[in-house]
Amino acid sequence: MTSANAADSDTLTVQSLLERAEERRLAGDYRAGCDLARRAADLAIATGDAAGEAAALRSLANQLMRVGQQEEAIAACRSAVVTLESLGDPVGLCEVLTLQAMPLIDLGMHDEALDVLATAREIAQDLGDRELLYWVHNRTGVVHGRMGEHELSTTYLMQALHMADGMNAEARFCILNNVSDNAVYEIPRLRGRGETEAADRTLVDAIGYVTEALRLAREAHHPYRESISLDNHGMLLALAGDLDGAAGLVEQSRLIAVRSGYRSLESAALQHQARIRLMRGHHTEAIEGLLLALERAHQAGERPMAMEISRELSEAHERIGDFMAALAHYRDFHDLERELHNEVAAARARMAAHHFELDNVRLEAENARLEAELHRARSAELAADNLLWQRQATEDALTGLPNRRSVDERLPRLIASGVPVCVAVADVDRFKLVNDRYGHFVGDEVLRRIAAILLDRIAETDLVARFGGEEFLIALHGSGIEDALAQCELLRASVAAYPWENIEPGLNVTISVGLAEVTGPGALAEAMGRADQRLYQAKRTGRNRVQAD
Ligand code: GH3
Ligand code: MG
Ligand code: MG
Repeated sequence: MTSANAADSDTLTVQSLLERAEERRLAGDYRAGCDLARRAADLAIATGDAAGEAAALRSLANQLMRVGQQEEAIAACRSAVVTLESLGDPVGLCEVLTLQAMPLIDLGMHDEALDVLATAREIAQDLGDRELLYWVHNRTGVVHGRMGEHELSTTYLMQALHMADGMNAEARFCILNNVSDNAVYEIPRLRGRGETEAADRTLVDAIGYVTEALRLAREAHHPYRESISLDNHGMLLALAGDLDGAAGLVEQSRLIAVRSGYRSLESAALQHQARIRLMRGHHTEAIEGLLLALERAHQAGERPMAMEISRELSEAHERIGDFMAALAHYRDFHDLERELHNEVAAARARMAAHHFELDNVRLEAENARLEAELHRARSAELAADNLLWQRQATEDALTGLPNRRSVDERLPRLIASGVPVCVAVADVDRFKLVNDRYGHFVGDEVLRRIAAILLDRIAETDLVARFGGEEFLIALHGSGIEDALAQCELLRASVAAYPWENIEPGLNVTISVGLAEVTGPGALAEAMGRADQRLYQAKRTGRNRVQAD
């Protein structure tokens, strides 16, 4: 009390409130952190400090979601998004969108979570910001995990883990903890499929990760992180057959959760203690524990967890032959599922209303911006702006190559000039596999490198463009079909010989090329059609080939 009063008597600024809010957050004291962040936001709004407002809303959202106020957290994120958009702050925008995914996941709104993450990923990639991308991968992994897609989850989380080297302790803790949490689900799945070796390897790795996570949590004196990693460590020990060790760690996790008021962590610990009892064959005790966990999950408003516990209760009763009780819990599970469905629909409706209000604010801001822009456009900057606009309209954002629209304008002019022209269509071989195996991020990087290779090897007077997807158009100018064939062969060989392994071990990329000669002005469309047919011939006859007329 005294210390709070003492601090209050200082001159309060948005900055000082925000610092204190973040200090509380880092100490895991989220309730006090929420109050401080809310005050910072109010003060920022009152003083017209848009950047301060956005920062305060972000801190607020980050803490509301830890104390069970998911919808409020989402609303805070959305308000922050509007402010950051008007400020033109892509980094802040990306961070808030990545954050917003978390409360959406907790509410079971997985599609919405993937949507905000997709936008965040685009921004991070445009900025080429590794740390932002790390958080996007990390959270995308969490969504897929919650959707039960643990293999996909592992792919994203491992990508994030590789990127986390050299980042701050919070980032490293978060990914280590998420990877070990995912392993708790992944290991039984692997064992179920008879992949014992992979399961054992995952278990050993995960125990290493969680041990490191726990060390980081304790070093930071962060009870939330300590509690959550103790719980994960416990469940991994249980999977390793050390039930006594497991019970001890989960109990430690539960005690911290009770002491700090982390309700969802408390119900998770109770649920896990019951699971350990089930593993020991102590069914009656396990059922008691699950009932208590169910009560806590209901109190914390954690419907997805309550569902899971009801299903486990049903299974536990079934094992001891009490089929009436098993059926009753199974019905509860179904009722909860329906309720969750309705609740998500209702939350969507409420959020849509909030979105509508925000849209109005956004429209007003946009109007003001447009007016300002009009003034600017009248000024001398007009010419420069125009140039930039033209570039964006004719350039492919991913590779920086000319886009299709630009080709549609330039190529007919090149042909009309009367010089002989050959057109080639290059298509990446089995590119879908590259995306599936290494992720979209690597896929994008492959496209950028191919663009660079092609651009590097063609003459300045020739044209290379991204035609869409994983297809490139090459227009070779001033050469007959024989020369063009040799040039395409060189391009194909350069892609095949590129050291792709440096991007990802095992990565190997080739292209197939279809080539045709443009026989005169007006024959472009027909030549393009032939090049396309040749491309498919090249694909059919084994790929990594050039096929000419
Ligand atoms: P083929 O050898 O027959 O050409 O096989 P393919 O897998 O390359 O062909 P398919 O047309 O089945 O798949 C093309 C894939 O390219 C599907 C799509 O997801 C991916 N793709 C298209 N545009 C992009 C992009 O901008 N980035 C990434 N990463 N992938 C893209
Ligand atoms: Mg294609
Ligand atoms: Mg392809």
